[in-house]
Amino acid sequence: MDHFQLKNGELYAEDVPLARIAEAVGTPVYVYSTATLQRHARVFKAAVAQAGRTHVAFAIKANPNLGVLRVLANEGFGADVVSGGELKRALAAGMAAKDIVFSGVGKTRAELAMGLDEGIGQFNLELEEEGVVLAQLAAARGVTAQATLRVNPNVDAGTHDKISTGKAENKFGLPIDEAVEIFDRLAPLEGLNLRGVALHIGSQLQSLDPLEAAFTRIGKLVEQLRGRGHAITHVDLGGGLGVPYRAEDNPPSPDEFGAMVARVTKGWDVELMFEPGRVIAANAGVLLTEILWVKPGVIQPWVIVDAAMNDLARVAMYDAWHDFAAVRPSGETMTANVAGPVCESSDVFAKARVIDVVKSGDLAVLRSAGAYGATMASTYNSRALVPEVLVSGDRFEVVAGRIAAETIMAAEGVPEWLKQ
Ligand SMILES: *Cc1c(COP(=O)(O)O)cnc(C)c1O
Repeated sequence: MDHFQLKNGELYAEDVPLARIAEAVGTPVYVYSTATLQRHARVFKAAVAQAGRTHVAFAIKANPNLGVLRVLANEGFGADVVSGGELKRALAAGMAAKDIVFSGVGKTRAELAMGLDEGIGQFNLELEEEGVVLAQLAAARGVTAQATLRVNPNVDAGTHDKISTGKAENKFGLPIDEAVEIFDRLAPLEGLNLRGVALHIGSQLQSLDPLEAAFTRIGKLVEQLRGRGHAITHVDLGGGLGVPYRAEDNPPSPDEFGAMVARVTKGWDVELMFEPGRVIAANAGVLLTEILWVKPGVIQPWVIVDAAMNDLARVAMYDAWHDFAAVRPSGETMTANVAGPVCESSDVFAKARVIDVVKSGDLAVLRSAGAYGATMASTYNSRALVPEVLVSGDRFEVVAGRIAAETIMAAEGVPEWLKQ
């Protein structure tokens, strides 16, 4: 459920007409709903609480906007970060250092040091050498790094190839059958408290089966590690729960997920950690856009909107689906393609789709754009960086300004030798 609904024939974000935001801020613009974020956060927390002691860390890469993060910090969420930049954002948004988990296959030595200096709660290690370096850095500072080993359970998440992370051929995690040996070697190191294991098998999962298979394998690994005398107190089960992008999608609910976790992890006696991203943020945002032109096409008309693949990359990158809806629908429909202005054939949001009838100057939204939307935006084709607005009830505020092409250009220069 989200809070982008029609009222008197016009689309609102909570109690704010989207047309008012378009008028005040211009388009394209991302609009997020606080009430939706809060609802998703509470539903998820309650769902996983069925499994006992839990820690929930929002995967910041899904939506790193400081306003959005503050909403989640207020809901008691920690953060899963994958770079020093995300770590700084989590702290700036008010998330406690102890509630921050540092994931990622390519943390730099400087980023490991930053995590230690900030006193973050946990590092999820991706390879043995990283554990050795982290231990050295911690010992040199006279501190102990809390860490888990991220294992790759070799499970096919059944999702799009580009968002699959838990198969043997993916770059993420350690092969699960080498995990015990590596754990044995890292656990005694001074400066390191290797306290558990972590996994994350992919994103936008449509079934609980691969997750259950992976968690079952992790449970066996925990038993093996304990059998060798290791104290296992934490297991990080990652993120990945899918969301409905279109009416016929029927992903497992957070509640069904929580019930499965409770069943599979019964008796583990650990603190369970979660890193949800998409399930919290995706349906809490829309990308609001204006129709520039309706161009007659050879087969269907082309609705050219002012948002493009640089603002929302998911369709071009992952063949993703985003519902397209008019802000003031007339009730009539047409079959059309929806595309942005960027000079790439992949800059197409919808092909031969039945959509609301729209004409130049109308407003429309691409729905479910709150996760992996603005965070992946670029300035390709020298377009401005897309702004973001947060709505709460009848209030709204710009939480990321539009960064103009001139501002980006100001960071560039012509070499001296070319200026003569
Ligand atoms: C991307 C990512 C997540 C979040 O994935 P969602 O599908 O958005 O829930 C969690 N953990 C790690 C390590 C990730 O890379």
